[in-house]
Amino acid sequence: MNILAIGAHPDDVEISVSGVLLRYKQAGHKIFVALTTSGNIGSNTHGSKEEIAAIREAEMLEAAKYYDAPVRFMRNNDERLMNTDETRSQVLSAIRWANPDVIFTHHPCDRSPDHHTTAEIVSDVILSLPAKLLATDEAPCYKTPSLFFWGSAAGISYIPEVYVDVTDVFDDMKKALECHVSQVSWMGTFMMHSLDRMMEIECAFRGLQAGVKYAESFAAFRIHGFMPDFKLLP
Ligand SMILES: [Zn+2]
Repeated sequence: MNILAIGAHPDDVEISVSGVLLRYKQAGHKIFVALTTSGNIGSNTHGSKEEIAAIREAEMLEAAKYYDAPVRFMRNNDERLMNTDETRSQVLSAIRWANPDVIFTHHPCDRSPDHHTTAEIVSDVILSLPAKLLATDEAPCYKTPSLFFWGSAAGISYIPEVYVDVTDVFDDMKKALECHVSQVSWMGTFMMHSLDRMMEIECAFRGLQAGVKYAESFAAFRIHGFMPDFKLLP
């Protein structure tokens, strides 16, 4: 299968879905990553948006090596993502590029603006995947992928539907997340917890719910013709 993870920022995929991606990779599936922004305000220690974006894209490419995944950067401005004709076309094209069987993205309940806007755009373009009259730089695709939302940041307002045991790949999850070196100081400017601590708390809490040591959790998107197939999860 082809598996696509669509995040708003470099590091979102690693915090939220890296365990599932690693398990898919172990099973021989092909992983793709796409990002709607490059997180170009996510640092107070670098001089320009361009410099931050370049650093964070490089960090993302390092992390993606853990999944052998190509990365597609849409390069919208951080914290300014809007649901427009242009961004819908970008996301539609990114999904066509991966031709996925399963898609993962943010949950619409996540109040981080780029997170919920990414969720909305992904959900809004699903029905357009095969439409040749909505032309993009990638050809239409004819699969009906299952779309799953990963948990909101810190699980706020989010109710999971399904869990995946990621205990066996947790060490590699931490290594992939550690590629996002620039975010250590950035998170320290306004958060009590480091990125790796956030991920460990979340996975341990979902593992507690699921009866395993560490788990990632998801909720499913539903629309006619694109109902989720839970059997596709690892
Ligand atoms: Zn984010």
